[in-house]
Amino acid sequence: MERRSPILVMLERSMGREAQPRSDFSQLSLDDWLAKFGRIYGKRHDKHTTEYMISRLVEEVAELVSPMEAQDRSTIGPSLADVFSWICSLAYKLKIDLSSLAWEKYGKNAPRPRGFPEPSISEFSQPRTLHEWQQFISKLYQNENQRLTPMNALVAMMKDVGDLAMLQRKRASSELITSKVAAILAWNLTLAELLHLDLAEVVFEKYDDHCPVCKQQVCDTDICHPFVTMYVSFGSSTTDEEKYVVLDSANRFGFRTLVDTTPELNNTRDLSSSLDLISRSDVACILLSTPPPIQIQGSAPSSPISWLESDYRQIFETMACFSTLSKGNVWIFTRDETKGLGAYLRKTFGAEQPMIFQYQDAGHLKALFEKCLEEVNEKRNK
Ligand SMILES: [Zn+2]
Repeated sequence: MERRSPILVMLERSMGREAQPRSDFSQLSLDDWLAKFGRIYGKRHDKHTTEYMISRLVEEVAELVSPMEAQDRSTIGPSLADVFSWICSLAYKLKIDLSSLAWEKYGKNAPRPRGFPEPSISEFSQPRTLHEWQQFISKLYQNENQRLTPMNALVAMMKDVGDLAMLQRKRASSELITSKVAAILAWNLTLAELLHLDLAEVVFEKYDDHCPVCKQQVCDTDICHPFVTMYVSFGSSTTDEEKYVVLDSANRFGFRTLVDTTPELNNTRDLSSSLDLISRSDVACILLSTPPPIQIQGSAPSSPISWLESDYRQIFETMACFSTLSKGNVWIFTRDETKGLGAYLRKTFGAEQPMIFQYQDAGHLKALFEKCLEEVNEKRNK
């Protein structure tokens, strides 16, 4: 029988070429699960900020409340799996070595309330599989868990998730943040134990080896969560015909548009209203104000071209779009990319290949824009 190198087997697994036999999931180590979620969602989460991911974890934990109140076990299991999936994705994004860290935290220095006899650590060895971790954590906290209802455990997990959001907001040290992620994992396992569920099993039931929504081994946002909302920004030199072309095309391709009507950025309230619109969008279309913008009164036609000060806001908008939506989902149009804001963006972000298109007139703009929209549609209909 042909012997294959273990590295090759591992690589094939991580590429998803070798399907995991169903019975094998119980053998997956915590690291294996982390790698699995890294493969399924890593590409998608590249586009997300840590804040966004933590807010999603908050949502997932909150989503446990109703089924727990209703004691609806058919929903509790999948919800616990979702929490685990976000913990893994977060650990993957932050490059946290979750198993070593959890062992460091709970294996060696486990916090225990006073008055409780300490279980001897010598009776444990470092857990490997998720099931072993669940047993380990529940054994470690067996005394506390006797007094703990699942609802109490959920409240405690919510507290830790809230703390994590606060630590991230305050830019706390990575040690504090990673330790909190390990604590949330411990609550995830405790909750499963209190509800007599095997976390590995419920996670496998929902995620197996793929994203449960798009069924792909590598989740693709474009298909999994189709884009529907478009942030639109017009420059001061944008003509009515150009505005019409953009809004009409976006509409015909099924987009809801959010047009930023903030004329300039004069204060932080303007800033947050622009940011609010951007964060509610999936894609963005920015028509840069491009020369020749306005004829400055009294200046000779040959004088250097300048644009309105208010157009500087488009630099901020573009940067906010790039960081919130990822550069691939931001379409920028300019009448002349060698001058003004277009040239600036090319120079500043050129290496990251933002999509900046140069158009001659409204008809040309329409053709270019609709080509972008058709590409999104193709992905949608795959
Ligand atoms: Zn998906």
